[in-house]
Amino acid sequence: MSEGAKIPAGFCRGFEHHAGAREFLWQTYATGRVGSAYLFVGPYGVGKFACALEWIRFLKCTDRTDDGAPCGRCRSCRNIANWDHPDVMILFPMPKSVWENEAKLAEAYEKFREFPYERPKFAQQAGILIDMVREVQKFLSTPAGTPGGKFVIIADAHAMNIQAANAFLKTLEEPPPGAHIIMTTHRADSILPTILSRTQIVKFNALKPEQIAHFLQEKLELPPDRAAELAALGGGSLAESVRFASPEFRAIRDEAKALLEWAVEGKILPLWEWVNSAPKSIDYASTLLKVLLSASRDIMVKCAGGETVNRDMDEIIAAAAKKNSSQERAAQLVREISRLGEDTARNPQYSLFYGAVVSALVRNLS
Ligand SMILES: [Zn+2]
Repeated sequence: MSEGAKIPAGFCRGFEHHAGAREFLWQTYATGRVGSAYLFVGPYGVGKFACALEWIRFLKCTDRTDDGAPCGRCRSCRNIANWDHPDVMILFPMPKSVWENEAKLAEAYEKFREFPYERPKFAQQAGILIDMVREVQKFLSTPAGTPGGKFVIIADAHAMNIQAANAFLKTLEEPPPGAHIIMTTHRADSILPTILSRTQIVKFNALKPEQIAHFLQEKLELPPDRAAELAALGGGSLAESVRFASPEFRAIRDEAKALLEWAVEGKILPLWEWVNSAPKSIDYASTLLKVLLSASRDIMVKCAGGETVNRDMDEIIAAAAKKNSSQERAAQLVREISRLGEDTARNPQYSLFYGAVVSALVRNLS
């Protein structure tokens, strides 16, 4: 395969926007050099895991189509679709209590399989456990039963604790013949250098809002307006955008809208009541800030006569822009909300934090 030659259209279909990664994976296959260890690195929720699985599906398929797509019908394709291929092992972070409980484990796998863009969430702390690494070693100790070798995908490999990482290092140093390990992470800085140095890095990028909107329309059957609105909020992460489609998110969004209305109308009392009653949780705070940030960007855009993304907030955005009239003041609001959004990365003191949010809104909107 010569440099720059065309990749068959069916190869890693659906991942065309990760052009660099797709090209790399194709070349690796075309030159017959599928390596023993890869690290797929890129933002959270952009399809690193899903792409790894699609690549394996392609490599393992026994009856590929003429345009380089896995057939979807052969035994291997069917097994991979069910996450039940004897030569493919999938691991992701979970608490020990789930790993050791057959029913809970099956439930977690089913959840992940249904939406492979996001790892299942658990009440207890989740990690890649040393017991999982031992399972990998056992899995790789026997030869593959089907052509093309054995594959292990470890999603969110940064969640591997030191003990597990040290045990895993042995496998990476001397991989059994025919073993292929793919790790994915959005936090490469948390991966041990000794592990990093033994992997080939494959880079993934953030998605464009149009690509996310397209996915939301196709897979979640959302109307175009709503898909565009959620895509704009996701900041390039599909998983984030999908999270925003949930009813919990809807409720937070309504609250953000109310805050904007009160600020524009100068209704101080309900704003301060909110400061005292708002949930003290990082999830709530960071989601609320994202909505406010997106809405304040819209206010700025509206002041400049541009096209907004939060269609369901049209009325309040128009009112805020009218009251605001100056683009500079709207830009100031965007800066302040954006700075506060960064603070949600640390555990803030919530009443102070929400107080600061209200001050920023009142200062710049009323
Ligand atoms: Zn097939």
